Amino acid sequence: MHILITGCGGFIGSHLLERLLQRADVTVSGWDHQQAKIEHLLGHQRLNLRGADLYACGNDAHLREDVAAADAVINLAAICNPSQYNTRPLGVIRSNFTDMLRLADLCAEHGKWLIHVSTSEVYGRTLASYTGDAAYEDPALYELREDSTPFTLGPVQNQRWTYACAKQLMERYVYAHHYEHGMPFSIIRPLNFFGPRMDFIPGFEGEGIPRVLACFLSALLRNEPLQLVDGGHARRVITGIDDAVDAFMLLLDKPEAGKGQIFNIGNPANETTIRGLADTMRRLFAEAVGDPAYRDHPMHTVPGETFYGPGYEDSDRRLPNIDKARDLLGWEPVVPLESVLRETIAYYVEKYWHVASRKPRTSAAPSSATGTA
Ligand code: UDP
Repeated sequence: MHILITGCGGFIGSHLLERLLQRADVTVSGWDHQQAKIEHLLGHQRLNLRGADLYACGNDAHLREDVAAADAVINLAAICNPSQYNTRPLGVIRSNFTDMLRLADLCAEHGKWLIHVSTSEVYGRTLASYTGDAAYEDPALYELREDSTPFTLGPVQNQRWTYACAKQLMERYVYAHHYEHGMPFSIIRPLNFFGPRMDFIPGFEGEGIPRVLACFLSALLRNEPLQLVDGGHARRVITGIDDAVDAFMLLLDKPEAGKGQIFNIGNPANETTIRGLADTMRRLFAEAVGDPAYRDHPMHTVPGETFYGPGYEDSDRRLPNIDKARDLLGWEPVVPLESVLRETIAYYVEKYWHVASRKPRTSAAPSSATGTA
């Protein structure tokens, strides 16, 4: 089986590549201009790495060649960081839609199976958030089903939704190629995949605002308060990266079951509020570094627009129905939330604690400091 992966050097790509290369029957053409997360795989004899920007001038012949040779094309390349949706909206739209058109067109031209990695963010806010069902009493108003839940995105000025909108249009473009040209496709909607190598840890691997896992880890390592955006009431399901990669592997092994389908890939059993996530992370961090004081690490509430800038609006809840992945692929996520977090925290503590712990603990305070959260 020969697989083309765009964005193979990112968080998901690096884990998927690792797993694919463990299989002797798989060869991979990987595209990514960033390779820090796949250094351990460089030079692998079954990996042909195109270390160039997918859409830079002159790469078209290589891309065409790789698409033509592939049994499946997995599209992971994207800007997918919420702090950029309202601050770099043009880049977000280009990276998630405009730049992707060429790849989809080539797949259609060559009749290749495009596995497009979209996002659960396409669903937008839950219907319950619009009807005022704050207690989420009616599952029909919040449970996300791939083929029936409507997409409810906010107004244009709320640029948070540029990403969801670009991804949604790309899904429709892929589907249109299937409809008009018979292009085989599958769409995966990930729900908050967590694990080692996710994003970047500010202060250790660059600066900026990554996703929540990296934000909280950075704050713990730097001994700064955890910031709970709008009180941390939003809910997410946290999906272990190993479970997520299992879903990709099952899909590749069961093409006839997965073609023409859209799948939510997320672990509903791991649902948590962000406040709950912060609390669990500080407890597990305390365990990992052997310092119980971290259990009471300070947490502060911050308004979304202060944290992310104007145009930020949150997804209130993303609870997926995963019956399709279960029934068609035989996929079942098994790694509980605490195990996902424990493994990830251990990875970063091993990597950075020796540097971080040289800095004095200054802002850690007794549990009353959580009062603002
Ligand atoms: N969030 C937070 N503190 C942070 C970073 C994020 O409270 O330091 C919140 C964010 O507002 C959202 C949730 O955590 O409600 C998940 O954010 P993430 O950036 O991981 O991506 P999303 O799931 O929104 O795509």
